Amino acid sequence: MQTFTVRTSQREQMIDITGRVAETIQPCGASGICQVFVPHTTAGVTINENADPSVVTDILGKMARLVPASDGYTHSEGNSDAHVKASLLGSSVMVPVEGGRPALGTWQAVYFCEFDGPRTRKVHVQMLSK
Ligand code: ZN
Repeated sequence: MQTFTVRTSQREQMIDITGRVAETIQPCGASGICQVFVPHTTAGVTINENADPSVVTDILGKMARLVPASDGYTHSEGNSDAHVKASLLGSSVMVPVEGGRPALGTWQAVYFCEFDGPRTRKVHVQMLSK
């Protein structure tokens, strides 16, 4: 398993980490499946479009409307909305890999999703080879 860090600058932010993931798996040159895992409870990872930045804006906007910042939560830390958003997206994605390269669709990117930043976060990448 390999790990890289991501620094966010806002409370809620989606950062395209496709290049970082590709750099991590490229040296092995293998084919198989790559797991991208975020070991945090208020951040997640998802795959979506990177061609039009409005898509990321719309996803974050919709998440904010679906999960209000204040909604009678009981968690004393005061960041329950971030926990709920992280669970909705999930903490890992699986990416098919061919010859050391992520076999994503033309418009797809892997996004690290921060919901309680700004912070420095970790992303674990593990290659499962054939
Ligand atoms: Zn919390």
